[in-house]
Amino acid sequence: MAHLGSSILWHETLETAAPGAPATGALTADVVIVGAGFTGLWSAYHLTTTDPTLDVVVLDAHDVAFGASGRNGGFAMTLLDFDLHRFVGNWGDEAAAHAHRAVARSVREIGRTVREEGIDAELEATGLLRVAASEGQLARIQRVRATADRLGLDGFRLLDRDRTRAALDSPHYLGGLQEDACAIVNPAKLVVGLARVLRARGVRIFEGSPVLDLTESDGGVTAVTPQATVRAETAVLATNAWAHRFPAARGWSVPLYTYVVVTEPLSDAQWERIGWQGRQGVEDARNLVHYFRPTADGRILWGGTHAVYRYGGPISPRRDRHEPIRRRLEREFLATFPQLGRVRFTHHWGGPISMTSRFVPRIGRFDGGRIHYAFGYSGHGVAPAHTAGRILRDLILGRDTDDTHVCFVEHAQAPFPPEPLTWIGAELTLRLLQRQDRRMDAGHDGGEIDPLILRVLDRFA
Ligand SMILES: Cc1cc2nc3c(=O)[nH]c(=O)nc-3n(C[C@H](O)[C@H](O)[C@H](O)COP(=O)(O)OP(=O)(O)OC[C@H]3O[C@@H](n4cnc5c(N)ncnc54)[C@H](O)[C@@H]3O)c2cc1C
Repeated sequence: MAHLGSSILWHETLETAAPGAPATGALTADVVIVGAGFTGLWSAYHLTTTDPTLDVVVLDAHDVAFGASGRNGGFAMTLLDFDLHRFVGNWGDEAAAHAHRAVARSVREIGRTVREEGIDAELEATGLLRVAASEGQLARIQRVRATADRLGLDGFRLLDRDRTRAALDSPHYLGGLQEDACAIVNPAKLVVGLARVLRARGVRIFEGSPVLDLTESDGGVTAVTPQATVRAETAVLATNAWAHRFPAARGWSVPLYTYVVVTEPLSDAQWERIGWQGRQGVEDARNLVHYFRPTADGRILWGGTHAVYRYGGPISPRRDRHEPIRRRLEREFLATFPQLGRVRFTHHWGGPISMTSRFVPRIGRFDGGRIHYAFGYSGHGVAPAHTAGRILRDLILGRDTDDTHVCFVEHAQAPFPPEPLTWIGAELTLRLLQRQDRRMDAGHDGGEIDPLILRVLDRFA
């Protein structure tokens, strides 16, 4: 499953299996799902768990590990919006606590499913350590902790400087916030394992089957691929970064690229120099965070620092690498852990994520009809895509549940304007976010994550 232009560590850990066969001929199903990443496959999983008689077809343009689900950092975490504090500020106490609990439940359920279904996804339920590398970041993690306390959310613990550095040693760290509800996984093994479980249940997953047209007519939906037509009762659009290509969702999200690098396996002596016995997933508290985690074979995956929007939102394997960002990521890693000495980097890749104007997912059905959607996880969809799968299952089966009342279900958000305005807005937003990061690095309190442009977007929404 090597993909053009990429050197994706996770794909190298998969048993080499040729992509599944494409869909051919005239097919029928109860539900047709477009996109075989976490959103599509968790939807199929929840649907067929609740109603094993359902006939589900999944169509993917590439293969199940091709999208962001097969190439992400592997943090299954509760993060919605930029952080809990901002999320609560935007949506209110009750709605934010409700959504947070729904996603925290997903983190637990992913762990349980992996165990029960025998999926080898290298899952480690080690929690998230949010480190503060400046006074401004420290103020932010303290605000998150205070917000969690006020809302009665469990599992958040502030660590002072010494305890943070005992957990993970960098000379820059001033404190940390440990959150229990986070697991790290090998995402490609998880998505491929999930596909295996679904196929064993009778779900038909076709790869190499790009959906060219998805329409609703005569009491059903029709998905058209180059070699097949699938007629179904209802459909799910689960194409995330590609969602804006579906006419009804145009302007609802934009694709951004985000990148990671991976080190060679570190020696025992190097691991000792940084501690990290707890093997947590780690993020700092910048706007454009650094996130990093240990891998099962003793490396460190390090990502973030910047996100790239290109004019018109093209998605292409040619964008899977970004040399200036690769160099910057490597430099920032070495500056964070100078005690590691010489470290070689063996892998670099990126992939498209889907950003909405309010930085939270969009889940619902188009015009109250038969085509459902879930996308726009803004770069942290591993656990929320599982939640989205539960919500879509309930919407499709007509169930009124706790999940269908999560605040971003059927919630309008401001559309992105036509180019060049989206490009200008994205550049401006990214620059303002970076400026705030630089101010924090220079010792100022970063304050809330609400530079002017974010407030304008919120006002529209
Ligand atoms: C480098 C990187 C690091 C990340 N790190 C993290 C992390 O640590 N934690 C976290 O929570 N999130 C992370 N994310 C984001 C996370 O991976 C995504 O939010 C999540 O995987 C989205 O899942 P999805 O199924 O909605 O989309 P995807 O996994 O992108 O799946 C969409 C699928 O749709 C298919 N498709 C597109 N168009 C069509 C069409 N016309 N017909 C048929 N199929 C089509 C694609 O081939 C693709 O397989 C990261 C993303 C990247 C790129």
